[in-house]
Amino acid sequence: MANFSKKIQKEPFITVAKIAEKLNISTFIIGGYVRDLLLDRQSEDVDFVVIGNGIEFVNQLAPALDKDIKPKVFENFGTAMIRYKNMEMEFVGARKESYRKNSRKPIVENGTLEDDQKRRDFTINALSISLNKADFGELYDPFNGLEDLKNKIIRTPLDPDITFSDDPLRMLRAIRFATQLQFEIEEKTYEAIKRNKNRISIISKERITDEINKIILAPKPSIGFKILEETGLLKLIFPEMVMLKGVETINGKSHKDNFYHTLEVLDNVANVSDNLWLRWAAILHDIAKPVTKRFDKKAGWTFHGHEFVGAKMVPRIFKKMKLPLNEKMHFVQKMVLLHLRPIVLAQDHVTDSAIRRLLFDAGDDIDLLMQLCDADITSKNEAKVKRYLKNFQLVRKKLKEVEEKDSIRNWQPPITGEIIMDTFGLKPSKKVGEIKTRIREAILDGKIHNSYEEAFPFMLETGKSMGLQVHSMEHAPEKSVNK
Ligand code: ATP
Repeated sequence: MANFSKKIQKEPFITVAKIAEKLNISTFIIGGYVRDLLLDRQSEDVDFVVIGNGIEFVNQLAPALDKDIKPKVFENFGTAMIRYKNMEMEFVGARKESYRKNSRKPIVENGTLEDDQKRRDFTINALSISLNKADFGELYDPFNGLEDLKNKIIRTPLDPDITFSDDPLRMLRAIRFATQLQFEIEEKTYEAIKRNKNRISIISKERITDEINKIILAPKPSIGFKILEETGLLKLIFPEMVMLKGVETINGKSHKDNFYHTLEVLDNVANVSDNLWLRWAAILHDIAKPVTKRFDKKAGWTFHGHEFVGAKMVPRIFKKMKLPLNEKMHFVQKMVLLHLRPIVLAQDHVTDSAIRRLLFDAGDDIDLLMQLCDADITSKNEAKVKRYLKNFQLVRKKLKEVEEKDSIRNWQPPITGEIIMDTFGLKPSKKVGEIKTRIREAILDGKIHNSYEEAFPFMLETGKSMGLQVHSMEHAPEKSVNK
């Protein structure tokens, strides 16, 4: 048996072992922490199994670790948790589980360490290290998890059909671990996912989305999405994404497969950013291509307006997947809506006014938008990729220059509604909004600078052209400058 005492000769394990000895309760570290320890991955959540009462154990352990630690006890589950430094330590009595058909909530009884290992999802998650005096550091590995860890294999300890049918969330966990760790799912386990995929219907949307987000946040998320698609799960949990798949050919003209293109964009974004929402924007940037696809004899395949239709689809998809319907969603929507704009700028002769409009629309998210656009270049032709990236560098340079001159990014109208109302003696009304819009448009078009000094006379002119009388000049620039 392998011994890993050196790896756990540290707190809090030393104190846990002391309490185990004092209470004469067998205690083990189990699950993800052991897996990550053997993989030399950083992990802060530690699960412990005690052969006895987990709550009683923690009540003794907490003061021994630190007098200020207050354990959190979950009587119903027979578990207790403590926070020690940045670690979350969870204690549970060893259990045996059995399942019914329509629920992923098992019937639970007390059990042995091996019973507890049997209820684990994968062999690499069933590994356990002893904290007992007689065999401190000894690895308990009834399902050859260490071997699977070495060979980078995800495999269920028991019959995978039963494992997945009992708790279908495990199918997504298998795919998530395969993605995070870049492991292969063993063939029988893989085939069982295909067979049991429909069982995913008993899992809540929130839990499904939790796993999808973990896949998205992995170093190479495409691994997970390819498996989700191949096993048939993706169609059940995110059908819009499956619609992107496929290539159609008419008159010898084909369009690219937008599913694989999207995955490339996602991986590209993942290489430069950990921002979950930018990664979601990558997933959704072309989501409306299937519904906007047309074939034209002259132009070939077109996807006109897919950015507008796509932006409209974002709230529906977020709602269905129980993603937040807040500023995160608005950010993703904005990215989808704007993702073609820098491309147009890179191709055409770039005018300052187009740059100002992009800065106005993207605001502080302009840098993230540019990251998405870089990632969207997935041509196989290296010279082309280089050329596009270079063009985007030029767009960036231009964005910087125009921003330095005009400060559009954090747009604040130079003339407030109050000033317009005071000047023309108006009450709050449509006209006030109209003048504000005309001033903004003039600035974005480059007719005037984004300054009070130029905006004020423009406002006077605009008001006059609308038939308004000047009522007060108290806000005229000299005055406001002296204020
Ligand atoms: P991570 O912290 O990256 O999510 P983890 O393996 O620690 O990975 P947890 O969800 O914290 O995942 O679960 C801790 C342990 O509990 C797992 O390693 C596994 O042994 C067990 N486990 C968790 N969920 C399940 C499940 N649905 N079915 C069976 N065992 C599970």
